[in-house]
Amino acid sequence: MATGKAPAIGIDLGTTYSCVGVFQHGKVEIIANDQGNRTTPSYVAFTDTERLIGDAAKNQAALNPENTVFDAKRLIGRRFDDATVQKDIKQWPFKVINVAGKPNIEVEFKGERKVFAPEEISSMVLTKMKETAEAYLGQKVTEAVITVPAYFNDSQRQATKDAGLIAGLNVLRVINEPTAAALAYGLDKKLTGDKNVLIFDLGGGTFDVSILAIGDGSLFEVKSTAGDTHLGGEDFDNRLVNHLVKEFLRKYKKDISGNRRALRRLRTACERAKRTLSTSTQSSIEIDALFEGIDFYTTITRARFEELCSDLFRSTLEPVEKALRDAHIDKSQIDEIVLVGGSTRIPKIQKLLQEYMAGRELNKSINPDEAVAYGAAVQAAVLTGSEHSAVKDVLLVDVTPLSLGLETAGGVMTKLVERNSTIPCSMTKTFTTYADNQPAVTIQVYKGERAMTRDNNLLGRFELTGIPPAPRGVPKIDVSFDVDANGILHVTAKDQSTGRSNQIQIKNDKGRLSQADIDRMLSDAERYREEDEKQRERISARNALEQYVYSYKQAVSENADKLSPADRDVVVEKCEETVRWLDSNSLAEKEEFQDQLEQLHKTCSPIMSKLHRSASGCASSSSGCGSQASSASQQAQQGPTVEEVY
Ligand code: AMP
Repeated sequence: MATGKAPAIGIDLGTTYSCVGVFQHGKVEIIANDQGNRTTPSYVAFTDTERLIGDAAKNQAALNPENTVFDAKRLIGRRFDDATVQKDIKQWPFKVINVAGKPNIEVEFKGERKVFAPEEISSMVLTKMKETAEAYLGQKVTEAVITVPAYFNDSQRQATKDAGLIAGLNVLRVINEPTAAALAYGLDKKLTGDKNVLIFDLGGGTFDVSILAIGDGSLFEVKSTAGDTHLGGEDFDNRLVNHLVKEFLRKYKKDISGNRRALRRLRTACERAKRTLSTSTQSSIEIDALFEGIDFYTTITRARFEELCSDLFRSTLEPVEKALRDAHIDKSQIDEIVLVGGSTRIPKIQKLLQEYMAGRELNKSINPDEAVAYGAAVQAAVLTGSEHSAVKDVLLVDVTPLSLGLETAGGVMTKLVERNSTIPCSMTKTFTTYADNQPAVTIQVYKGERAMTRDNNLLGRFELTGIPPAPRGVPKIDVSFDVDANGILHVTAKDQSTGRSNQIQIKNDKGRLSQADIDRMLSDAERYREEDEKQRERISARNALEQYVYSYKQAVSENADKLSPADRDVVVEKCEETVRWLDSNSLAEKEEFQDQLEQLHKTCSPIMSKLHRSASGCASSSSGCGSQASSASQQAQQGPTVEEVY
């Protein structure tokens, strides 16, 4: 890998898919993974022999459901007894257990039971994104901006940062997804004065609507968020699947709904058909031997698809209305509408939204599934001091979405940081005791706009003890609230008379990983990385052996007339022996594959050389013989020219 510092990358760590971008040479590049895909499934799978991340994990999900983990974003930074966690657990094929009040995922990996925190699973997805960027840049990547939904609380943000840390990334900042999308479109520069932007984000499994106010000086304020945490492209796929299961039943009198393999194949075909229907009015579905040997060929029209999903499509407008209501603005006051998420490619959804917004144009020129990573890459460039004119003027300022304060006598919310304060920020106020000789004070930190703390959200509490006896109102206790650039809150209380202080980082109280946990996970991550590397080498050694066997066999069969029968038999017999060995040793070690390859070469290479010599002799005598012999034997000599990607 080249030396020098790689640019910081922007990562959209999504619920179903993730995406990575980098700002280079004056523009953002969205980076394709090793499969050539610009988004990578946020999936991690554990098998008897290896760990898989991304496409490889998703592709085997139906065969290994208990050990294929996805949706870690729905768990990150939450408590086990959180109602949404409990609801989600019922839907997942993998096991979620309670570890000290936090949800952890239990899987079987290489024949052993393993437990992972959601941060660890997310860190594996982040590692994949980091490696994707490294392969593209040819440099080690160490810095990133990661995006989170606008409604993520401190604990979810902190846990996302921890995931980055475990992946070996210095997370420069965690920014809001809608802010990133607005940034991708340069709305901060395009708009002057105070403007309102509506971000409509419909992905694979989640739907988020946010209203952003962008003020002069690139001040981004999330005015409101609404949505449906369980609505997205997968629901539309399900509608298509159910429709076709019924069609199959009608046509062939056979119910495929109990057959997992058939359903999986049908679902994959449906998702593909759905994508086609975004650009064509009709799509065909052709699945050979779907069930009991029956080929299933059918077509689906866009109109039919829209009808099957019409209630779901319509339901996307409700959160739009709610977000407008909560932000106290009328739809006529929205200046820009931005589409985010793959499912916003569906024409009907665009039409419904556009009609609802009185025919306003939609910002959709950037691929909707890439807009968030795009904006994150812009932010990463800004934070690392890029001087390029395209980003130089972007001065991104985020604000606190809600006020922060503490509880004072009588359950009153006393605010220290007002909502919409630009961050980072800090504020100190002096408090005192409410009883004579009070030895300690309890600092209870809340978030919200209501006057009484009971109506707001408790973020954490801690005690400051050792206050010297004094009449009420005499001790002076300075309480400071510091909100860092990631929106994470640190609260400190200090007794002026003794200098004693205590503090809380809200992240700890909300179940942030301890340093010891992070260290352990970091070293696990390193171990898994090494194991993955070994596994990759093993597979590539096996593939090389297989490729050589087939190249030798092919060379012999294509040049049968140019070799003596004895030579031919030697090569064929050796190849067959190797194939037999491969069949019964698919789990062999890299060295064993290499050893087999060496033996194969030892036997076959001398014979191939004869062929090669005769072929080149033939070429120089230009006696009209074809070049096939030479190219086939050369391939056998030099090894495969096409590398398979695993
Ligand atoms: P995201 O999580 O934003 O990447 O969105 C992924 C979802 O978008 C998946 O459910 C995809 O099936 C869906 N999607 C991607 N491309 C299209 C398309 N052209 N038409 C309809 N849905 C799409």
